[in-house]
Amino acid sequence: MCIKNNLIEKDAALLSDVMKLRFYPITVNSGKGATLIDIEGKEYLDFNAGWGVANTGYGHPRIVKAVCDQMNRMSFTSPVSTVNVESIDLAEELIALTPGDFAKKVWFGHSGSDANEFIAKIVPLATGRPRILSFVGSYHGQTMGSYAMSGHPAQSRFISGGNVIKLPYPYCHRCPFGRNLCECNLFCLKYIEDYALKSICEPDQIGAIVIEAIQCDGGDIVPPEGFLEGLQSICQNHGILYIFDEVKVGFGRTGKMFGFENWGVVPDAIVMGKPLGGGQPLSAVVGRKELMDAAVGAHLFTTAGNSVACVSALETIKIIKEEGLMENAKVIGDFLMDAFKKLKSKYDVIADVRGKGLLLGIELVNKSNEPDAELTALVVYRSYELGLLYYYAGVFNNVLEFTPPLTINMEQAEFAVETIEKAIQDVLDGKVNRDKVAFYAGWG
Ligand code: PMP
Repeated sequence: MCIKNNLIEKDAALLSDVMKLRFYPITVNSGKGATLIDIEGKEYLDFNAGWGVANTGYGHPRIVKAVCDQMNRMSFTSPVSTVNVESIDLAEELIALTPGDFAKKVWFGHSGSDANEFIAKIVPLATGRPRILSFVGSYHGQTMGSYAMSGHPAQSRFISGGNVIKLPYPYCHRCPFGRNLCECNLFCLKYIEDYALKSICEPDQIGAIVIEAIQCDGGDIVPPEGFLEGLQSICQNHGILYIFDEVKVGFGRTGKMFGFENWGVVPDAIVMGKPLGGGQPLSAVVGRKELMDAAVGAHLFTTAGNSVACVSALETIKIIKEEGLMENAKVIGDFLMDAFKKLKSKYDVIADVRGKGLLLGIELVNKSNEPDAELTALVVYRSYELGLLYYYAGVFNNVLEFTPPLTINMEQAEFAVETIEKAIQDVLDGKVNRDKVAFYAGWG
C-alpha cells in the first residue's frame, strides 16, 4: 500500500473522530512559508493556514530560533506558581498593543476555547451579573462555557448555558429580520434595545456582550457600518462589559492588528488565540483589571503561558509589525476581493463575496438562491486536487473560507484565484466524483 493511504488508514483507525473535521485526504510532512508538502512530496498552497494560526507562515526562521533558544535556556516552568520573564514581557506587549485608557491585566491559556471559558466563568463572578449576551452563528469554543456562548450549529447541538441569550448577528446578505440594509436603519440594534433588553432580560442582569468583530466560522460575515459602535453605546448605557473574541481575526489578518480596530470601538476585554502563539498552543484574555482579578486561582492551567509559547508569541508579534504583514494583508486582500467580485459577476452560483484583508469568504448557492452545501464541499475538494488548500464555513456550510498566511505574495494570490475559478468550473461541468467527496463530512 502507498505511504499516503497507509497513513490515512492509520489516522482513521487510531485518532478519535471527536477531534476531527476533514474536507479531503491531505497528509502533511513539512511546510515552508505558505506551502505545505505532503508525505509523497506533492506541494500545496495553503489558503487556510491551519484554521488561521500560521499568520507568519510555516517555519519562520525567527520563530524557529526564538523557540530553540528558549528550549535550551529553560524548557518549561509553570507560570501558575513561578514568576518568569517571558510571560511578563508578553503581557506587557499585549497591554501596549490594545486600546483603552484604563488599568489592564492579562490571563494566559492554550486555546480559543479556554480563553472564552474565562469569559463565561469569570464575567458573572466579577460583575455580579449572571447573564451574557452573544450572537447566533458565533463560534467561541468547544468547552462548556465557551460552547454555551456559541451560536454555531457545531456547538448549539449541546444543551447548555441557561444564562446566555443569543442575538441575531447582522448577516445582511440573509438578514434575520428580512430587511434591506439601505432602509433598515440598523434594526438589529433596535431589536436589542427595544425587545431583548425589555422582554428577554433586564440590562442590569447582563455582565457582558461577547462578539466577533467579523463572524468567521458563522460565514465570514462583516457587520454593517455603525453596528459595532451602536452596540458599544448599548453596553455603555447599561454598564455592560463589551468583549471581543479576536481568536480568528486578531494579529494582522484584517490589515489591522485586531479586527475591531476597523471600527471605532474600545473593548473592555479582548480574547486572543490561534495566531498569537506562532504555532505554539497559547491564548490570552486582555481586559480591565477588575475583571482579570475577580478571584485568585479561579481559571488556571498548569502549562498555560509557558516560556516557549510566550517567546514564540513575542517573535510573532514583532514579525507582523516589522515585516509589514498588516500592510500585505490589506494589499493582497484587496486584490483577492476585486478578483472574487469579478468571479461573482461571471458565476451565478456565487451569491456574495465578503471579508476584510486576508479573511475572505465566497458564499455559494443553487439556482433558487438557497445555500448549496454540496457544491461548496465539491469546490473545496476540487481545489485540493488542483493544489490549493482551504475549507468551508458558515452556518449553512456554503461559504468558501480563505485565511492564508499573511506572508503570501501576488503570484500566490493569482494562482489561488485561477484555481478557485477552475475548481468551480470543473464542479459545474460534473468533473468531480461526488461519492469520493461524500466521505468527507467537513462541518456537515
Ligand atoms: N473563537 C473563535 C472566533 C474561533 O474561530 C475559534 C475556533 N474556530 C475559537 C474561538 C476556538 O478556538 P480553539 O479551537 O483554539 O479552541
